[in-house]
Amino acid sequence: APEEIRELLLSRIREVADYPRPGVRFKDITPLLADSKAFSLVTETMAAICRRRRATKVAGLEARGFILAAPVAVRAQVGFIPVRKAGKLPGATLSQSYELEYGSAEIELHAEDLTPEDRVLVIDDVLATGGTAEASLHLIRRTGAQVAGVTMLMELGFLAGRERLREALGPAPLDVLLTL
Ligand code: AMP
Repeated sequence: APEEIRELLLSRIREVADYPRPGVRFKDITPLLADSKAFSLVTETMAAICRRRRATKVAGLEARGFILAAPVAVRAQVGFIPVRKAGKLPGATLSQSYELEYGSAEIELHAEDLTPEDRVLVIDDVLATGGTAEASLHLIRRTGAQVAGVTMLMELGFLAGRERLREALGPAPLDVLLTL
């Protein structure tokens, strides 16, 4: 039942006040990862979304997105693309900068691992302002590949990341397992 699933996931997400900065309520997913039932539920639900969206690749956003997206890729039998922070990938990369609350950030991927036939599903743990996910969609489109959608474990509704993502998503769907 959806309500039981929500309760299980909620019970396995630890909220840490004032981390990493004062005023932030950090959503720590390590208790969920440590519980094989909850971790399996999340990755199997995301793999079903991956199949439904007819994705051919799953892109994980560094770092917690990797932990979720890699098992989803294996379960859905599609390839995995790491979207990394700048300076970590050894090959020919495409880079995208984006604005943060304080300053800016840059993410990269190896463009040669995607083709125009690919449909890429982006996965991460938390949709906050949406800046990181938005930048990842621009990166994927710049390779010529298509966006199959964005799937997040949780959405922090009050930060309106969904609105920020709207234009970059276009008709592609945003799926979230838990709205907070
Ligand atoms: P965003 O503001 O949507 O670009 O979020 C950027 C990244 O920060 C995402 O990859 C999230 O995993 C992480 N993040 C943002 N806010 C939180 C939070 N309250 N708890 C845990 N992770 C967060």
